[in-house]
Amino acid sequence: MTARILVVDDVPANVKLLEARLVAEYFDVLTAGDGHAALATCEKTPVDLVLLDIMMPGMDGFEVCERLKANSRTAHIPVVMITALDQPSDRVRGLKAGADDFLTKPVNDLQLMSRVKSLVRLKNVSDELRLRAQTAQTIGLQELARVDRPDEPGSVLLVDGRASSQERLTRALKPIADVAVISDPQAALFKAAESSFDLIIVNANFDDYDPLRLCSQLRSLERTRFIPILLVTEQGNDERIVRALELGVTDYIMRPVDPNELVARSLTQIRRKHCNDRLRASVQQTIELAVTDDLTGLHNRRYLENHLKLLIDRATTRGRPLSICITDIDRFKRVNDTHGHDAGDDVLREFANRVRATVRGADLACRFGGEEFVVVMPDTTPEMAAIVAERLRLAVESRGFDIPQAATVLNVTASLGIATLRPHGDTAEALLKRADMALYQAKNGGRNRVVAAAA
Ligand code: GH3
Ligand code: MG
Ligand code: MG
Repeated sequence: MTARILVVDDVPANVKLLEARLVAEYFDVLTAGDGHAALATCEKTPVDLVLLDIMMPGMDGFEVCERLKANSRTAHIPVVMITALDQPSDRVRGLKAGADDFLTKPVNDLQLMSRVKSLVRLKNVSDELRLRAQTAQTIGLQELARVDRPDEPGSVLLVDGRASSQERLTRALKPIADVAVISDPQAALFKAAESSFDLIIVNANFDDYDPLRLCSQLRSLERTRFIPILLVTEQGNDERIVRALELGVTDYIMRPVDPNELVARSLTQIRRKHCNDRLRASVQQTIELAVTDDLTGLHNRRYLENHLKLLIDRATTRGRPLSICITDIDRFKRVNDTHGHDAGDDVLREFANRVRATVRGADLACRFGGEEFVVVMPDTTPEMAAIVAERLRLAVESRGFDIPQAATVLNVTASLGIATLRPHGDTAEALLKRADMALYQAKNGGRNRVVAAAA
């Protein structure tokens, strides 16, 4: 993991110490000796994380954090505040200032690395989301461009063997998450697999069960592999913690649990999970949008042109028939002229519904352009294609189209041309061309009819 980390502290020795540790882990380190320098650096260079001392002359850490979070250009940079162990109130103030996590002085190596890595991971996914949102905005996909949404409550599974700590942790998490509690670590695995949690908190306090066993099982199960795990553990057992992190535990927190720390750490993991989920959904959505017609939800022309080639290759190699049908709504211009463009859109949507309802699942239905639709029918002879096309013609003609936009019902008809793949050397273009010529004949012959191209 490479990331650029800004270390802010007024004591040069502290800066040097943190810098040396981070550089040893191959992080790229920048330093600042006071708040103004820190803000200036964040403004002019991309920074992935800020490690921020609180006690500094002039502008203190709280103010630096507040300013970073108030500036839209730097608000997304995670901030870890370095607090004194005997000052729990600093954490509360830090959270209020927008800090993402805490470290206590003297800074322990393991804590430093797990905090930094957790937050850098979160930053990576949220950066990716922001980048996609930008692209989505440029190409006009407003829905995908919404990225800076407020935090949604997370759903947390708390695996905890003791009633008293269950109660305490649940209360602390209440403002940020819905918490399901389970005492039996073995049952927890099933519970985690059958619901969709954003975070699993494992409190290592079972009488005769090794919590790392649950963590490792959670990591190996397909359904739970990507759910972050936060381990609550004893002070001073670094070897176990290292082992837990190696097993894939995402982060840890030490007993006695400071509620503020628990909230900060849980929030980081929940945010990352949400960002990841959204990223995955947006990839899916982008793919769908690229090949889908907005108005009708059918595949678009781009998809047809690509996919038809594959279908033709497959039909050719297997020696199977393949037919296509092009259909064009009759006198559609009149619908627009008489009832308006929105009513025209209603007709197109309903027309698409009838196409969908008429063809088989294996058929590919697309909006080819304006009021022209194409259905590709694999494994379909000319005779069968004629039957399907006639069924579609009838499905359009036989029932009026409800037009909510114009509060009316319209009679609509369509003309259809069909063509079948030739066994040797036929192409998508040639096939579409023949179907189009058949359609032209159907229009010339008086509309509302099916014409088959000569074989
Ligand atoms: P024909 O029977 O010869 O096909 O006559 P037509 O009026 O259907 O054919 P023409 O190609 O002259 O007109 C098609 C019309 O479809 C013109 C265009 O404005 C309209 N159109 C194309 N795309 C859309 C759309 O997305 N929504 C709406 N409402 N109308 C569209
Ligand atoms: Mg038309
Ligand atoms: Mg037309």
